[in-house]
This record gives sequence, C-alpha cells and structure tokens, in this order.
Amino acid sequence: MTATAATRPVTGSVHSFDLSIGVDGPGTRFVAFLAGCPLRCQYCHSPDTWYRGNGTPTTTEELMTEIRRYERFLKVAGGGVTISGGEPLQQPAFTRSLLMRCKEMQLHTALDTSGYLGDQADDELLAATDLVLLDIKSGSEAAYRKTTRTGSLAPTIAFAHRLAQRAVPIWVRFVLVPGLTDAPSNVDAVAALAAGIPTVERVEVLPFHRLGAAKYAALGLKFPLAGTPVPDADLLRRVQAQFREHGIDAYM
Ligand code: SF4
Repeated sequence: MTATAATRPVTGSVHSFDLSIGVDGPGTRFVAFLAGCPLRCQYCHSPDTWYRGNGTPTTTEELMTEIRRYERFLKVAGGGVTISGGEPLQQPAFTRSLLMRCKEMQLHTALDTSGYLGDQADDELLAATDLVLLDIKSGSEAAYRKTTRTGSLAPTIAFAHRLAQRAVPIWVRFVLVPGLTDAPSNVDAVAALAAGIPTVERVEVLPFHRLGAAKYAALGLKFPLAGTPVPDADLLRRVQAQFREHGIDAYM
C-alpha cells in the first residue's frame, strides 16, 4: 500500500497534552501543545514551548493512542481535539496527520494558531480542520511587531481570508494588555479586521495575566511585562464598546 499523507508515519515534538473545558474550542477538549514557536509575544505565558527541543519526540500513532483513551468522553461531551502550541504550524506535517486521524475518528478538530505561518497549512490540513482559533496579536504592523517582537501581521490576514474562502469557521482571540495592545486605534483595527472576515463566529478578548511569570524565572528569562497591570473594569468596558461599534459582541 502506498503511504498517503494520512497514513505516513510522522514524528513531531510535543510539549504536553491536557484536557480543557470551554477555552480551547467547544466542549471538553483534548489539547495537544506542540513545541516550537517563531513568535516571542511579550505576554506569552508559555515560554517553555518556544523551542522544538523543549518537546518530546512523539509519533502520530503515540498521540492518537492517548486521544483514543478519551474518544468516547470527548464525543459525549460535545468536544474534540485541539492542536495548539507553541505554534502547531511550525510542524505542519505532524499537525496535518493528527487532524486527519482525528477526523477519521469523527472527532471535532480545532487548530490554535497565530496564523503567522498560515502558508504552511496545505489544503488537506485545512480540510481536516473544523475550527481555527486565530490569535490576532495586534491590528497594525507596528503594533504587531512590538507585541510579538518577531512577527508580521500580513500573513495572519492572508490566512484569515483563505480560511474564509474555504468556509472554515474562526474564533478570533485577542489578548488585551494595558500599555501594549490596548490603544484605542489598535483595538479598533483588530475589531475591524475581525468584522471583515465572514467566517468569524466568535471573538474572545483575553485579559492579560501574569501567570506565566514563574516560567520565565525558571528558564532564567526576563518577563518583559512583570510590571504591567491586568486590565481594569473601565478598560474592559471600553474595549467591549469598541467591538460593539463593529457589530461584534466580544466574549471576555
Ligand atoms: S504565539 Fe503563543 S506560544 Fe508563541 S510566543 Fe506568542 S503567545 Fe507564546
């Protein structure tokens, strides 16, 4: 038998996996966190996923064996599998094989990505993806660069439009950080972008938190936002109102 993309053995680097409820797609999710990410978001709470070498070499079959243990539960709970990171599109063949295998099992699939490496996702990968959780880090090139320290917004916009053309549902996520992403013009640009993508079903505004600070300390890294406060109620209200102006009822 000739190996197809779905059956070819693929080894990826997996940081960890876990179950989550309500935050990584609909229902209860099996979330696989792949190791490696090209961005260095100032607010990142998982710097331990930045390098592929931080993960464990794992074959598709090994991870599917874990997923199979929860298959029945995930289906009954209206959930599925989310491939996250790090940045899963830094390992496109592994991500594609996982998504395709999950679809064969009739599990709902979600891809959690910044879209920065969207051109790594081929059509087969997208055909096996029921939902994309798309992180829009900021709404202009300058703000995106400042937020991610390495990235550029244009690939995310191109990826979002490609998803829309293929009718792939999107949940947009935007991390609100006082002094970094909260400028009215930046929020307005993110809201306008989300409003302009026809398959966006939901927008989540995630308030910045400092829960990852201990990981930076453990890695001997400086947490760039150590002195940054969490968003207060006034800021959350203002941002919610800005999204409403674009016809979006953002979840916070
Ligand atoms: S894309 Fe995600 S994992 Fe990568 S640096 Fe940003 S927040 Fe961290």
